[in-house]
Amino acid sequence: MWTLDAGAGVPLWRPAAPDPAFVLAFSARRGGTSAPPFDTLNLGRSTADAAAAVAENRRRLLGALGLDPARLATAGQVHGAAVVAVRGPGHHHACDALVTRAPGVPLAVSTADCMPLLYTAPGAVAAAHAGWRGTASGMPVAALAALCDAAGVPPARVRVAIGPCIRPCCYEVGPEVAGRFPAAAVRDAEGSLRLDLAVAARLQLLEAGVPEDAIEDTGACTSCEPFWYFSHRRDAGATGRHWGVAALLA
Ligand SMILES: [Zn+2]
Repeated sequence: MWTLDAGAGVPLWRPAAPDPAFVLAFSARRGGTSAPPFDTLNLGRSTADAAAAVAENRRRLLGALGLDPARLATAGQVHGAAVVAVRGPGHHHACDALVTRAPGVPLAVSTADCMPLLYTAPGAVAAAHAGWRGTASGMPVAALAALCDAAGVPPARVRVAIGPCIRPCCYEVGPEVAGRFPAAAVRDAEGSLRLDLAVAARLQLLEAGVPEDAIEDTGACTSCEPFWYFSHRRDAGATGRHWGVAALLA
């Protein structure tokens, strides 16, 4: 189970019973320094927010997690299904997921409606960004496969967490998008098609061999809760970005 520590200086979603081998978190929008419409914990450099504010927000988040900003690894996020295995810090342009066996290297993916996924296996972690394009392209299982390769374990040894993202309560899509997903991931609300990215990811992961009880979901909808989350769709693009962070400890 994951919980949001709403009263913390930097409120974060964390595992309720964390495995001491990993640091895992999904950020919300509170506890940072950015001005509207990026208020306040905007972590995305791809926005029009002040670079100094984003840098301070990143320091606050990683500091709250006990992680070193100088060791950070990030992904360019191009709505594909490419995964890069990293050994140290750096920005990797043409990918949407990162995997590492290097202790103390925080992997971060940024989202504001798209789905962040964090993976753990003995001796390795992964972080993935998946909107509808990435999910339809198989990103949830591409990151799983890369993690299993890195760790040398089967999917049965992997745990996956699904962070805050836009949910079917708010995620209306056209038939051309809905048609790329299994029926179980699409709801028809009186003619309005609603996509459930988390269900689509779960189906892929289960089919690949991840145990059902090893998949955890925060259940949070970014669009429903403006107090807690940025939402690209709700805010018409003028908004900040959250992070999903995964790191391996020594
Ligand atoms: Zn919603």
